[in-house]
Amino acid sequence: MKLAQTYLSDFVALLFPQLCPACGESLVNNEHVICTDCRFTLPFTNFHLQPDNIVARQFWGKIDVQGAYALYYFTKGGKVQNLVHHLKYKGMREVGHLLGNMAGAQLAASPVFSTVDIIIPVPLHKTRMRQRGYNQSLCFAEGIAKKLNAVVEDNNLARVRATETQTHRSRFSRFENMQEVFVVNHPERLKNKHVLLVDDIVTTGSTLEACAIPLLKIESLKLSIATIAYAE
Ligand SMILES: [Zn+2]
Repeated sequence: MKLAQTYLSDFVALLFPQLCPACGESLVNNEHVICTDCRFTLPFTNFHLQPDNIVARQFWGKIDVQGAYALYYFTKGGKVQNLVHHLKYKGMREVGHLLGNMAGAQLAASPVFSTVDIIIPVPLHKTRMRQRGYNQSLCFAEGIAKKLNAVVEDNNLARVRATETQTHRSRFSRFENMQEVFVVNHPERLKNKHVLLVDDIVTTGSTLEACAIPLLKIESLKLSIATIAYAE
């Protein structure tokens, strides 16, 4: 019976091969989500081993972070871009969970990140959330949480609309402000905690910085940052 099932699943796989979302090759029997070759060859940053890495440096003098991390380097048209694309636009939430597990395993081995208590994903715009139905950064956060023994708080940080005071600004700067304003709904839950803020891709760090502003106003809160990829 077991053998028959294996034959059947091999047959189904032949008709509908599952493809690795990074390289596009067919997955073989024991491979799950991402092929073995990609798991070993995708460009890890190892930022968890370099406290003064390039992402951490971007926050120097702007926001106080304990640690800053990205799992991979992102290159345009590369395999990491394919992965993020499948996570964001093809409904492959399992990519986020798996990458979160991988990142979490690295972070758990780091003295800086192993003390994280709470993980907060950068919230999506409401319209994006309606279109996509899920927040890709939440999937990544959940994967990390499993390895770090931390809790995910999904609804505490929120994007808010432009306030009245911004109505006198130019249209362009008003739009910028609308994009980048965040509030914490329940600051008391984050007091004395080490919070890991997570996003999919970090480039200039401006979104993470905007999220950090209200978080760092909370008493004795320590903040760290983790993303799937760093793009120059
Ligand atoms: Zn692959």
